[in-house]
Amino acid sequence: MSEKYHTPPSSFCPWCAGQLSQENPYRQECASCRSVLYHSSSPTVGAVPIDDSGKVLLAKRGIEPYYGAWNTIGGFLDYGEDPLEGLKREVQEETGAACVVKDFLTMNTGTYGPDGPALLNIYFVVQLLSDDISPRDDVSELRWFALDGLPENIAFQSDRLALDILKKMEEVKR
Ligand SMILES: [Zn+2]
Repeated sequence: MSEKYHTPPSSFCPWCAGQLSQENPYRQECASCRSVLYHSSSPTVGAVPIDDSGKVLLAKRGIEPYYGAWNTIGGFLDYGEDPLEGLKREVQEETGAACVVKDFLTMNTGTYGPDGPALLNIYFVVQLLSDDISPRDDVSELRWFALDGLPENIAFQSDRLALDILKKMEEVKR
C-alpha cells in the first residue's frame, strides 16, 4: 500500500482535535485551544555527484511517486537537521559512499508528486569519496550520465531545472 500525502488545509487541531479555521489554508487557528497551525514547504536536499569527466550520478526511484523514473540523490531533511549533514546522510544511505560538498547549486520549489505537498529543494554538487557504490534504501539503480545525455524520464521538474543550471555552469568552465 502506498503512503498517502496530505496537503493543507487540515480539519482538526493536531494538539487538541478542535476545529481549525479554514479561511487561510496555510495559517489555521484552533477554535478550542487557540493554537495556530502553520503549513510550510518541506525542505529536501538533492546531491549531484560529478566525476572527473563531467558525468553526473542519478538514482532510479524504487518507490512511489514516480517509481522507476530517475532523480537526484537525496531526500527529505529530518526535523531540525543540518542541511549539509542531511545531504551526506542521504548520499551515504542511497549509494553507500561518503562525499564532500563541492558547490551550492540552486534552490527551487516543487511538489512531492502531482498535487502533492509543497517542497523547498536545495541542491549541491558533491564529490564521492569512493568508487564502490551500490543502490540501496529507496533506490533501484545508480548510473552515471553525461550532462548532454540525461535520461528523458526525470521524476521531478525541480531536478531537471537544477541539472540544467549545472550543465550551463559546466559549459562556462570549458
Ligand atoms: Zn487546539
